[in-house]
Amino acid sequence: MNHLKSMTITQIGAVLKELGQPAFRAKQVYTWLHKGVRSFDEMTNLPKALRDTLSERYPLRIPEVVRKQESQKDGTIKYLWKLSDGNCVETVLMRYHYGNTVCISTEVGCRMGCAFCASTLGGLVRQLEPYEMLDQVLFTQVDSGLQVSHIVLMGIGEPLDNLDNVLRFLELVNSPEGMNISMRHISLSTCGLVPKIDELAEKKLQISLAISLHGPNNEIRNKIMPVNKAYPIEELLDACRRYYQETSRRIHFEYAMIDGVNDTQEHAKELLSRLKGLPAHLNLIPLNHVEESPLKPSTKAAVAAFQKTLEDGGLTTTVRRTLGSDIDASCGQLRRKYTKQNTL
Ligand code: SAH
Repeated sequence: MNHLKSMTITQIGAVLKELGQPAFRAKQVYTWLHKGVRSFDEMTNLPKALRDTLSERYPLRIPEVVRKQESQKDGTIKYLWKLSDGNCVETVLMRYHYGNTVCISTEVGCRMGCAFCASTLGGLVRQLEPYEMLDQVLFTQVDSGLQVSHIVLMGIGEPLDNLDNVLRFLELVNSPEGMNISMRHISLSTCGLVPKIDELAEKKLQISLAISLHGPNNEIRNKIMPVNKAYPIEELLDACRRYYQETSRRIHFEYAMIDGVNDTQEHAKELLSRLKGLPAHLNLIPLNHVEESPLKPSTKAAVAAFQKTLEDGGLTTTVRRTLGSDIDASCGQLRRKYTKQNTL
């Protein structure tokens, strides 16, 4: 975490103190960094000598836009960024009635191995540093000119497999001197790393926890989500109950509907009984077809029937609109395409 933008104000203060600077400079530097400046020279209220020293010792390593695609249908914008080491990650900006939401990546690649997901096809390359998550939000806002009010950690990567960096990112993006985005406007999605869910619960943050469930039982989850072999569904749901006890935040479940795999009436009933008594919301997502995968999305009729059974059983559900479907806006697809084109 020796990048200046991964540091708290206190830590920046310590760096500046060593450089013989007065205490008030910490807040100045922090505020500039969190505005998304591209160089220390933009920090006009700092002495020139200090700007020079900082840029030498703490290069800003600004991500570059390598692709930008804008949906003609709904205004969704997808960015493919090149990081300072040449790796690429994706960020999606979605425009909802309640505000602009960015979906950020937390890792380059992923090692969770879910069968339907494009992000995991090449495995994990590396975890992202806190500033690299923050930069996705900052530079999406700067580039688009649109104010970001909500964040979802649902891009490439498994956030709970990079928990320390994610926690720092949350602290930074929530700070009043920074972007000041409310924890209640942030969602973190996990495939189900139980010990990490408990670790997160202990922090008692007011973020929403989203669980990628995608199946009502171990048999189905084992087939499509290898993580289930380590942390079976019973343990996962117990962790969700503990999370609710600690935070009083309703749990959001995500359920990608896959034709013939998890979308029958029996599955809907089984899901209802599994989630009974747990304050929950279920998001049904028609599977986004990934080229390399044989899995297909459920039919519209299957999705509607599934939803009806759940609603009749008292569970609140939404069918997620597929924003940006004309621009490869689902997880990992753009990076995958770009990496393939540039290695073949
Ligand atoms: N690793 C985290 C967050 C990233 S994925 C997690 O697993 O939750 C964000 C969401 O998109 C997850 O619910 C994931 O299961 C889902 N997803 C991935 N590939 C998908 C696809 N092809 N179609 C629909 N949803 C998909």
